[in-house]
Amino acid sequence: MGSIIKGTCHNCGYVTKNLYYGGGFVNFTTCCDYPILDKDKNEVGMANIMDKEKVLEQNPNLQFYDDETLSDTKSQNQDIFHEWGDYKVYSQGYLCPKCKNFTLGFSPVGHWD
Ligand SMILES: [Zn+2]
Repeated sequence: MGSIIKGTCHNCGYVTKNLYYGGGFVNFTTCCDYPILDKDKNEVGMANIMDKEKVLEQNPNLQFYDDETLSDTKSQNQDIFHEWGDYKVYSQGYLCPKCKNFTLGFSPVGHWD
């Protein structure tokens, strides 16, 4: 039901841990985990984008990667993306938490259910 994706920065070589994108069999209607930037730890993690307001209320240091300030849409090739329901992640053009360039991209590494 979901996919495992990984973020990689081709500028500084930062690699995220495996990120479980989408929802599992039991909760796919209420839960969609999506990449977030943790501005406190300078790391990429995942949080439920369907619960965005609650997530951000609990931790204001988090920012979802669908925020336009976190991606460089001009240089982004929007034809290559990974999709889950209404949500997309692109394979390039996201802000890297380590080197602060728009050189982070997400790519699928496997599936889970
Ligand atoms: Zn980087």
